[in-house]
Amino acid sequence: MDHTSYIEISKSAYRHNIKYLRNIIGKDVRITSVVKGNAYGHGVETIVPLAEKAKIRHFAVFSASEALDVFNVASPKSDIMIMGYLNDEQLAWAIENGIEFYVFDLNRLTKAIELAKKMNKPARLHIEAETGFNRTGFEYDKLPDIVGLMKDNCDHIVFEGLCTHYAGAESISNYYRVMNQIREYRRFVRYFNRHGLKPNYRHTAGSAATLTYNQTIMDMVRVGIAQYGFWPTQETFIYQFKRNHAKDTDLKRVISWKSRVMSIKEVDSGEFVGYGTSYMASKRIKIAIIPVGYANGFSRSLSNMGRVLIRGRRVSVVGTVTMNTISVNITDFPNIQPGDEVVIVGKQSRLDISVASFSEMSSQLNYQTLARLPGNIPRYLVP
Ligand SMILES: *Cc1c(COP(=O)(O)O)cnc(C)c1O
Repeated sequence: MDHTSYIEISKSAYRHNIKYLRNIIGKDVRITSVVKGNAYGHGVETIVPLAEKAKIRHFAVFSASEALDVFNVASPKSDIMIMGYLNDEQLAWAIENGIEFYVFDLNRLTKAIELAKKMNKPARLHIEAETGFNRTGFEYDKLPDIVGLMKDNCDHIVFEGLCTHYAGAESISNYYRVMNQIREYRRFVRYFNRHGLKPNYRHTAGSAATLTYNQTIMDMVRVGIAQYGFWPTQETFIYQFKRNHAKDTDLKRVISWKSRVMSIKEVDSGEFVGYGTSYMASKRIKIAIIPVGYANGFSRSLSNMGRVLIRGRRVSVVGTVTMNTISVNITDFPNIQPGDEVVIVGKQSRLDISVASFSEMSSQLNYQTLARLPGNIPRYLVP
């Protein structure tokens, strides 16, 4: 064992989540599994085959390099969609390999058409509409140019998608902003319709919109966080609870993160633990050293705050989180031994540490905590 911690990915939890989501969105709507950020820390190599077993055949990533990671493990039958960055060289690679990509500026559109002509391979486009998120996306007044180019080059393109992204469907405080975006998106749809262009997929919803704004479901949904078993926010869960009698177990966490006790020592009263003076033993205590630190995704802001599970007990981090270790106070649990399993996220006997509690303690979102899990931690499938 040359790694200091490992991640377990639960097959049954993943299957369960997809089934729950399929129930909500209906049989005829396609799911694209969003696997950017190394599948939200779960590992692209682990999640893509698992999603394919659950009959998902579409994957969404941010960049061309992420698309390549998916391409290397996905079945040739699966489609891959880049929602953000690609340079000209990567654009050629994408077209060559039938990779779909967002288009949100005229430059990318003309370049894509030019390459598609040269390679005699159609470019598979998703036209992104600016509806109020104000990140990427075409403004409505650009539509005549886009439609003109698309019609003139219809042999060289496939109009795969017309899409947009909501600015905060996970909170009711953004209700008017989201409703305006829905209205604005429909104007785009009508414009394309009037000009005889119909996308294969209209898609706008991420997890939160899928779970709270029924009308955003359309032809495809882009599900990220929910497939991994997390409600985008507490509000999203409450909405499903009130409306559809959801239970918080309707989405099941897929990930667990574990390590082992590396060594144990006693510290005298009045001594400090770790760097500086942030923790002083006020009596003789016993600590266990665990080989996971901020270089491994355990945030430094959990110094003197984090908790882990050992032998079914919840124990506290004492002192500062270092680059590669934490120390936990095990004074009250004398039977803890080097080599004992340490649960950082997950269940051990009757106790559980959620990503959310872990995140809140460090003032981070689930998304951020997960995305920060380093790629080199081994991921194992468990039943
Ligand atoms: C990340 C992302 C999603 C998925 O969001 P979740 O909240 O994780 O479901 C969907 N669409 C776009 C454009 C994204 O960037």
